[in-house]
Amino acid sequence: MKAKRYFTVRPDLPGALSALDGLAQNLRWSWDRPTQDLFASIEPDHWDEWRHDPRRVLAEVTPSRLQNLAEDHQFLQRLGDVKEDLERYLSAPRWYQALSQTPDRARTAEQDRTAALEHTQIAYFSPEFGISEALPQYSGGLGVLAGDHLKSASDLGVPLVGIGLFYRHGYFRQSLSVDGWQQERFPNLDPYALALELCAEHRVELDMAGERLVAQIWRAEVGRVTLYLLDTDLDENPDHLKGITDRLYGGDMEHRLRQEMLLGIGGVRALDEVGEPTSVFHTNEGHAGFLGLERIRVLMERDGLGFDDALHAVRAGAVFTTHTPVPAGIDQFPRDLMERYFGGWAHECGVSMDRLMELGHRPGEDADASFNMAVMGMRLASLRNGVSDLHGEVSRQMFADLWPGIPESETPISHITNGVHGPTWVSREIDTILVDSIGPDWATRPIDGWGEVSDIADTTLWAARSAARERMVEVIRNRLRASAITAGKSPSEVEWIDTAFDPDALTICFARRMATYKRAALLLSQPDRLRALLWDSERPIQFIFAGKAHPADDEGKELIRQLVTFAQDPAVRGRIAFVEDYDMALARSLVQGADVWLNTPIRPMEASGTSGMKSVLNGGLHCSILDGWWSECFVAGSDSPIGIANGWGISSAMGLDDHRRIELEANSLYELLETKLVPEFHDRDNAGIPHRWMTRVKESMRTIGGFVGAHRMVRDYVEHLYLPAARSAENLSAHNWGGARDLADYARRLDESWHRVHVDSVNTDEAVGDLGSSREVQAVVCLGDLDESDVEVQLLTGPVGQSGEITRVTQISMTPGGMVDDDHHRYGAHAQLDSAGRMGVTVRVVPRHRLITNAVDFGNVAWAT
Ligand SMILES: *Cc1c(COP(=O)(O)O)cnc(C)c1O
Repeated sequence: MKAKRYFTVRPDLPGALSALDGLAQNLRWSWDRPTQDLFASIEPDHWDEWRHDPRRVLAEVTPSRLQNLAEDHQFLQRLGDVKEDLERYLSAPRWYQALSQTPDRARTAEQDRTAALEHTQIAYFSPEFGISEALPQYSGGLGVLAGDHLKSASDLGVPLVGIGLFYRHGYFRQSLSVDGWQQERFPNLDPYALALELCAEHRVELDMAGERLVAQIWRAEVGRVTLYLLDTDLDENPDHLKGITDRLYGGDMEHRLRQEMLLGIGGVRALDEVGEPTSVFHTNEGHAGFLGLERIRVLMERDGLGFDDALHAVRAGAVFTTHTPVPAGIDQFPRDLMERYFGGWAHECGVSMDRLMELGHRPGEDADASFNMAVMGMRLASLRNGVSDLHGEVSRQMFADLWPGIPESETPISHITNGVHGPTWVSREIDTILVDSIGPDWATRPIDGWGEVSDIADTTLWAARSAARERMVEVIRNRLRASAITAGKSPSEVEWIDTAFDPDALTICFARRMATYKRAALLLSQPDRLRALLWDSERPIQFIFAGKAHPADDEGKELIRQLVTFAQDPAVRGRIAFVEDYDMALARSLVQGADVWLNTPIRPMEASGTSGMKSVLNGGLHCSILDGWWSECFVAGSDSPIGIANGWGISSAMGLDDHRRIELEANSLYELLETKLVPEFHDRDNAGIPHRWMTRVKESMRTIGGFVGAHRMVRDYVEHLYLPAARSAENLSAHNWGGARDLADYARRLDESWHRVHVDSVNTDEAVGDLGSSREVQAVVCLGDLDESDVEVQLLTGPVGQSGEITRVTQISMTPGGMVDDDHHRYGAHAQLDSAGRMGVTVRVVPRHRLITNAVDFGNVAWAT
């Protein structure tokens, strides 16, 4: 019979063990090895089966085992140590707490900074969070990044909370049919059995197109950071709304819109409800973007702001991170759906539906065009970023049209390259080596703090690498065996798996979401070359693939089928495999064991990518198309002080048709494998150590190790985005939102008057000048009804290229020099002649106001023509 209702019964821990409960409840165990070891030692044989979940251990352990442990002095001693360590971790000051002691140059800036530090509270909104395989609320890179962000924020003491949804079925579990077609299972998760606690006193309510929706709030402790997850699975909700939080990225467009409303609007209400006063709202990708609309509504209703005032106030404290370089990857909602769900909002805020739609439209788009979440994200944030250097550039291209008249290079979108949380991903052996070499604080070291790794002994490093590879081979065999048996194979049919894969072979892994642009099957495009590599018994090489395709993505599933089919051939099957059900646990094994981490995306579609970073921290080498993070981190041998590159770059044939492109890029990959990777890995001394390979590994760790850490990433977010946003939000809210009203008034004046602003003339002596001297430039500008204090007149200078455009622009502010007549003002400045050759100058007028963070952000600019 099927149960009608269920509940979870928590075990009765003997008094001596009561601390276990608190330890299991704080997800810090997911990156603290002593805590993991402690729980693993309770029932070591089940640790893997129970997905490394302390809560599960406590739920399943037998009372007699607990009784034994309660009398085991050694265990109790360890328990005490681990508990004390957690307490210290939660209370001692960390990096952020030391920030306010850093003196700023200007006194006012320092006061500003200290005030911002004290009052800042950041809320990080994300549709998925990958903290541990035991809390499966993620589908791939975006979620794992969010998890790593929270963990690093916790390690650094950053005052941040996470906001997301609790999906009853999480993301799916993957298995394969005999012919290699992906099967999806959606297990039912019981939140009471996970490291979650219900905020029983608090609920949020939302209007969903005229129906009332209620959501409850779960909280998870991630070290020092709290994560709130909203859940609509409540009897009082009508059935069709109950399921809003059923699955990650499931359902149709309307379902998706409801999920995003819950995340954005419900998230803001939840923060208020549980008492988390927030000054900075960070949206991890567009899905939570509706939070901006909710905040506008609240400011209007609660604080009596006008719509435009509220818009400015909301933007000031908002940070938007875009993650996709592909327009098709952005959520868009048709107007009729928006009318049904947001008609009430427009009415409450006293604006027309057209005005609302405009927030999600590009300039010149039809009022009926669909509503673009990324465009809204850009418009409702004052600070925006992409997730790698290259992706920043691509994003400035993609969204340049939102700031007409502004050169693409000045589009106000910056970048902060993604990172990974070292302690989560690094193997035990490598951790020991890094502690010995760099110090116990290796994960939080500054980027140039990894120099010592060059001195690690090759034998030590090789032993660590080999141990992790061997463990990975064991994990792969177990997984392959389990899948084969589940698929109905007999024991004799799975015997070959016992010796499949070689713990000493060059092991290359490719594991990530099976999205088509990642081209998992590029390697299969030249099957004969692949077989030749796999059949080489002198210099063994092996490949492991893993990853889930989105349930609706048949092309992605087809990639998996191709890989599985190729790997089923008995002539290669012990050397190449597709391993089912990629999750954080499998990811850990693979990034720790792989010698080479492979990535073959279509450039520039990989916004960043992060799994290669995890491999690098573990002493793996990255071999990838120069896309995402790799495009900025790869150092070629010719640029390296020791003449050895820190990995490999696969050539990218951008601009060619697909067919040619695949051929050229696969050629480049095969050439690297055949002539570089395989020979170098198998070039050994008498003791079997590949010294050149080890030197390359150390070069990779030395040059990249400090940069790829999520601690670096979070520090960058704090310094470049969170604190500036907090300061600017504080300035706007001062004097009962006087700042916001000021800024909105100023924006209105610009709107009314800007059409009259122009540069009349630019004059300078055009004779040859001497390097090192300066040249006076004069301009006359018309400001119409605006004053000199309303604008900045900028002189832009630099060497000119072939078509007369200024390259390497230097920008200085020009000084007013009196009036020509009522509207026309004289300005002057001196350009420094600091490089020889042709030099060009031009002049432009941009807005100026003490509360604007970025002059071009308003989109008003008048150029000399
Ligand atoms: C790190 C990680 C990813 C990210 O993969 P990339 O394609 O390199 O961005 C995806 N899934 C899991 C389970 C991960 O651990």
